Amino acid sequence: MSKRKNRINKGLSRIVGIIDRYIELLGCESGGLQDGFRCKCYDDECTVMYSLFSFQNDDIVLQFAKDEFNINDISIFTLSLLHEVGHIATQCELTKKEDAYCWAVKKMLSEQDRWSKGVTVTYMRLPDEYMATQWACDYIHNNRKEVLHFDNLLKKELKNYYRKWLTE
Ligand SMILES: [Zn+2]
Repeated sequence: MSKRKNRINKGLSRIVGIIDRYIELLGCESGGLQDGFRCKCYDDECTVMYSLFSFQNDDIVLQFAKDEFNINDISIFTLSLLHEVGHIATQCELTKKEDAYCWAVKKMLSEQDRWSKGVTVTYMRLPDEYMATQWACDYIHNNRKEVLHFDNLLKKELKNYYRKWLTE
């Protein structure tokens, strides 16, 4: 492997290491880098998967968190990660009826080619999604120092990584 490639891989595993340690601190297992944010639970083991891609509707999600929960200085990455932990933390609060409703609407929405602002907000207002975001935002408010520390560290490492990648 070339020296340059080696440095890029090293930089990425450093970033992934920081994220994985934070997921463990939040009481979950890391499922590593994937093509999106997801979570799953088997018995007592809950796994969170994450992505370093940016999505089309990121701005709408950030605006939603700002309008509904007064969150305005956290990256979309950290908010999305905590949202997944929020799904795990709140899944038991969902009634069977609510759960069935969420699945039915999600199935319908998944058939949309392009997610307009309206569709994204409809999705975010579904009981399970709303509860997960609410949990994430409560967590941010109640653990501000810790969350900001993680968020800033991640931003710094990503900037370093991309600077290296683009200039070396
Ligand atoms: Zn969700």
